[in-house]
Amino acid sequence: MNTASPMTALKGIGEKTAALFHRVGVDTVGELLSYYPRTYDIYEKPVTFANLEMDRVQAVAGFVHRAPDTKKMNRLTVTTLTLEEFGAYLHLSWYNMPFLRGSLLPGGTYIFRGRVQKKKGRLVMEQPEIYTPGDYEKIQGTMQPVYALTAGLSNKTVTKAVHQVLEEPSLAPEYLPEHIRVEQELAEYNFAIHSIHFPISRDALLPARKRLVFDEFFLFILALRQMKEQTEGEKNECPIRAGEWTEHLLQSLPYALTGAQQRVWQEIQSDLSGETVMNRLVQGDVGSGKTVVAVLALLAAAENGYQGALMAPTEVLARQHAQSVAQLLENCGLEEKVETVLLTGSMTAKEKREAYARIESGEAKLVIGTHALIQEKVQFHRLGLVVTDEQHRFGVRQRETLADKGQHPHVLVMSATPIPRTLAIIVYGDLDVSVIDEMPVGRLPIKNCVVDESWRPNAYRFLEKEAAAGRQAYVICPMVEENPELEIENVVDYTKKLQENLNPSITIEYLHGKMKPAQKNEIMERFAAGEIQILVSTTVIEVGVNVPNATVMMVENAERFGLAQLHQLRGRVGRGKYQSYCIFISGTDNKDTRKRLEILNKSNDGFYIASEDLKLRGPGDLFGVRQSGLLEFKIGDIFTDARILQEASEEAAKLKRQDPDLELPEHQALKKRLLKYRDEGLRRMSL
Ligand code: ADP
Ligand code: MG
Repeated sequence: MNTASPMTALKGIGEKTAALFHRVGVDTVGELLSYYPRTYDIYEKPVTFANLEMDRVQAVAGFVHRAPDTKKMNRLTVTTLTLEEFGAYLHLSWYNMPFLRGSLLPGGTYIFRGRVQKKKGRLVMEQPEIYTPGDYEKIQGTMQPVYALTAGLSNKTVTKAVHQVLEEPSLAPEYLPEHIRVEQELAEYNFAIHSIHFPISRDALLPARKRLVFDEFFLFILALRQMKEQTEGEKNECPIRAGEWTEHLLQSLPYALTGAQQRVWQEIQSDLSGETVMNRLVQGDVGSGKTVVAVLALLAAAENGYQGALMAPTEVLARQHAQSVAQLLENCGLEEKVETVLLTGSMTAKEKREAYARIESGEAKLVIGTHALIQEKVQFHRLGLVVTDEQHRFGVRQRETLADKGQHPHVLVMSATPIPRTLAIIVYGDLDVSVIDEMPVGRLPIKNCVVDESWRPNAYRFLEKEAAAGRQAYVICPMVEENPELEIENVVDYTKKLQENLNPSITIEYLHGKMKPAQKNEIMERFAAGEIQILVSTTVIEVGVNVPNATVMMVENAERFGLAQLHQLRGRVGRGKYQSYCIFISGTDNKDTRKRLEILNKSNDGFYIASEDLKLRGPGDLFGVRQSGLLEFKIGDIFTDARILQEASEEAAKLKRQDPDLELPEHQALKKRLLKYRDEGLRRMSL
């Protein structure tokens, strides 16, 4: 067995389980090693009811007086049990587990472990785990890994597989040169890998995590530098000069570009016509108007006889881009000259074939689609420019795949991730950075409020009022941790509840991640067309969606989201001329949570929010809600781990000065690891 072995090389893992691992992105033994726990369960000593803390996972010992009740609610079976201790009550409930009635026997004492909450003045624990006192004693005091899962894949299965791999120490050999480990005071790799999965204590976890975060940043930076060396000074084989077409577009816009948009457009133009090929990142907060800048560049490419591709991370976004591009082209009378092809997963095989043919022949000037589709299957006739929206890593790596196909187009990456300049220089080390740091004029600042659940009826009246005025709203439902099925129930039930509570003339529909792309598209299109007034959704709408008529973003259980994520959600409103509102409903009166949410209340500036959040949480909060989800690091977080990022960057620079091509004997293991890192990245990208 080696790190490249398939999962089926492990005992007890057959094709079926391997397919489940594949769904969470683990195909090889090596990938399993770096499938780090999402968090850890600490099995603390059971506490008395009087000592329970809200919103924390805790264990209690409970005596079962009588068998649990089971009743049907909507499509759920709910099993409930009430515990009593010195006159205090704790209400337990489980969903779709009617068999519990038979296993929680009256007269028995059990340990129940779960998150304690106060609901309608009662202490409740939903979906608690159940142990016999003897079983609990065995795990009490330990930290157990909690992995991200998918339906059918249990935490136990992952845990067992990891255990099996860790028994083979040769699989996690040290590859960092001794001098770097000493200089940075980094733990040994084998220890780090063991401890991140099965820490013997919190004290062992910290150095393990630090080591792995360092590795992740270090490899990333080295790979970026290599890529930069390869592309730097690469000749511009697709010289593009903006001409009449872009002028037509600018004149037909119902607005004038902001100063920042103009400046960035200038920067792009000089790249496109310059000596060397463009590698540029356009960074701009949500709603700053990145799309039109990208379309200008694509149009310039088309006018110069090149094809352009616009890639989006999701099908919904790709469709939306296709629609806004079609509108822009129509406004300036170029819809016939610039033939556009949309390429998405829900198209039929026949439609796809036709699209591919038109792209290959060069008939299609502009290709809009999801990353994977464009990247993998398409042969371009004469590709001159690739724009990727909202997903940085793709931008970094796609150069290599495109180069493999003999193409050397300009690359433009668009991102809304708010990160400070000093970090941007490291993380986007291979790119030139342009910043759109100005919002379109006439935007009214979004009005925010953070409220508790008792305010919900007012929020509902407010939704009605906005709908009556012709506006639209998003309502984000709470996520249900680790239970996709419950999450759907939740969205469906919540929608029903809204329909019952609001004026029946208001059309309310829902959207969730498990819906088929075609279904999602239909809902999104009807929402964009104004046929749906209120869209209830999970966070699937988080990135990029643009419906300027939507003026309310209401988020239930706002405390469960990261601030950066809430900021992204908020970015879905305030995109048009109407006053927009954000209502963050907090399901807890926990003081720290309120304080965190208040940051959103104070500012609409993504960068400020991220840095304030960091200050408040402090670097000790290692496994809190991650901030920079868009950057796709597995364990490192560019905000909380900014210092490690900085050190990794300096160390990489030093190494490159000392041994530019990693030829010294002490750097061979690292060189090998780096090659593997780049391979893995490429493979992941084409999934
Ligand atoms: P993002 O940067 O988040 O991708 P979009 O490009 O989707 O933002 O733009 C958001 C909205 O702002 C769109 O409806 C777009 O038409 C509009 N917009 C873009 N630039 C301007 C401008 N200079 N003035 C007014 N509205 C603009
Ligand atoms: Mg956008």
